[in-house]
Amino acid sequence: MTRPGKLLRAKLEISAGEYAPLAANPYRGCGHACAYCYVPGVLKVKRTEFDKGATPRPDFIKHLTRDAKKYQQAGIAEQVMLSFTTDPYHPGETSLTRETLQVLRDHGLGFCTLTKGGTRALRDLDLFRPDRAAFASTLTSLDDAFSQKWERGAALPGDRLQALRRFHHAGIFTWVSLEPTLDTESSLEIVRRVHEYVDLVKIGRVNYLPMAKTTDWKSYTEQMVELCSELGLQHYVTHDLQPYLPSGYHNPLRVPQHHGSAVQVA
Ligand code: SF4
Repeated sequence: MTRPGKLLRAKLEISAGEYAPLAANPYRGCGHACAYCYVPGVLKVKRTEFDKGATPRPDFIKHLTRDAKKYQQAGIAEQVMLSFTTDPYHPGETSLTRETLQVLRDHGLGFCTLTKGGTRALRDLDLFRPDRAAFASTLTSLDDAFSQKWERGAALPGDRLQALRRFHHAGIFTWVSLEPTLDTESSLEIVRRVHEYVDLVKIGRVNYLPMAKTTDWKSYTEQMVELCSELGLQHYVTHDLQPYLPSGYHNPLRVPQHHGSAVQVA
């Protein structure tokens, strides 16, 4: 069996493994300029440089194709996450994102895009297959001013909701990342708003910002799991909040993120 290539392993982000075992990051930098973004620190680049905008990684498609071939030969067909260290639908030129999705498809891999780019992603809707792909968005608030304060280059919340609805209506598995949680009431409100057109929420907290110390994370976790249970919404509570879960709470790390049974999720 061919040894899988390194490019697709999701090891650059501390908590990446909770989101997906495989990832592709076609760009350096990200124009969304989220104030809470920890990627510059992980990659050891200046935040001002990172926030200037995304630029394609040199020879990305060449390396991706080489790795995807190895995965295909190894019989690996899992979903690849785009992206952890950039955003696949950042405000700049994103044709490389489409090329990346095409390479993954051509080599039998599924994919999931996680983005704050909202309806920019609709351009690639035709590449998403209900039995292999997922579309996800990070949401921290439904309030435009709040979002512009924390995610000044990202699509506004309403635009992200619109994208989720469009993918959902096209039969694609959708999910929302509630990480970071900057304001617990805002995150609870997001769940109440989106539950009819998302299949899963991933619930996290924030670290290293002042609200990390002043928030009652136990209460938040309890409220969130109660709400999701009431709504019948599939949810995953990330590692940092797991100590606050009721004893024995069913919290599977990996659930199939597609509508179909063609691919086994590791
Ligand atoms: S969208 Fe993601 S990668 Fe881009 S600045 Fe925001 S947190 Fe960082």
